[in-house]
Amino acid sequence: MYFSTRDEEVVFLKKLWRKEPVSCPKCNGAVLEYLHKKAKKSDCDWKCPACGEVYRTIGMLKDLPDR
Ligand SMILES: [Zn+2]
Repeated sequence: MYFSTRDEEVVFLKKLWRKEPVSCPKCNGAVLEYLHKKAKKSDCDWKCPACGEVYRTIGMLKDLPDR
């Protein structure tokens, strides 16, 4: 994806889960926001308001390469 190492991606995911502001790793143009702001269905999915990229953190975690 947008990370050169597995560790970088893990740091990214952990920041999101801790609800820290994280800038979009794709365009670096904005801080990610919840995908479902109103529904509150899931706080695992995030979206970049600048480029529209969606980050589904559960799927990203599953797809992490093995060490
Ligand atoms: Zn973006």
